[in-house]
Amino acid sequence: MVGFSLGIPREIKQRRSNFSKKIVDKQFSKQTGKCNHCRIKFSSTVQIVKDHKNGDNSDNSEKNCQLLCANCHDNKSRKENSERAKGKKGKSRNNHLFDPSEPTEFKGLGF
Ligand SMILES: [Zn+2]
Repeated sequence: MVGFSLGIPREIKQRRSNFSKKIVDKQFSKQTGKCNHCRIKFSSTVQIVKDHKNGDNSDNSEKNCQLLCANCHDNKSRKENSERAKGKKGKSRNNHLFDPSEPTEFKGLGF
């Protein structure tokens, strides 16, 4: 009895959002080593953050890549989050016209 059951190796896909080094390098020279937003020059004190322009972390294509300083990236994600939260505008605010404190008991009118 040969019971070879080869476990199908699960592909461990990295869910990490990462642009390839090639893309980042290209983008870096395109932005001439500066933050794409505030134009601060990247240095040892200004951290480079790879940002997904369209917010889709799984889209690691070249056009979706931009390099921001940590500060701008922070602002961007904060803005995105608050916009997402704002997305649902208070649609239906049910005004209850029914007043439960009103007595609904009808007393015999005493004919
Ligand atoms: Zn910046």
